[in-house]
Amino acid sequence: MKKQYGRYLDETIDFALKLYQLHSIAKEGYDGFMHASECNYFRKGDGTYLRGYSVLTTVNHIEKKTEKKLTFSKDVYLTDNGTLQKFYSVTEWSYCDKCKRTHPYIHRELAKDQTLSENELEKIEEFITASFNLIK
Ligand SMILES: [Zn+2]
Repeated sequence: MKKQYGRYLDETIDFALKLYQLHSIAKEGYDGFMHASECNYFRKGDGTYLRGYSVLTTVNHIEKKTEKKLTFSKDVYLTDNGTLQKFYSVTEWSYCDKCKRTHPYIHRELAKDQTLSENELEKIEEFITASFNLIK
């Protein structure tokens, strides 16, 4: 794997990739077990699903309407190829007739600018380090 985020974080990422259960990253659809087959997921160049683990979510804005709530956020995932990838997400919380409850519908896009600030990298490192203690 290419070393890219500084030695300490690279080692942390190597270790995290061994410990984390990576899952497919939803691009569009209900993020719920009932809808797993209807959900559209990100794919890699070779057609396989991009798998990852969410390591940082920053909520930028919340909008409340009468029937639903919208959350605008920036998500960083540690992906199965060892890189951190930044996404922008809009999550719609609305009532689902199929499940008879309110749950999130996600629209997620890969960010054009993949640059991570020092502050973001620091938070990611803290998150991963803290999660090791939970898993242990
Ligand atoms: Zn549902």
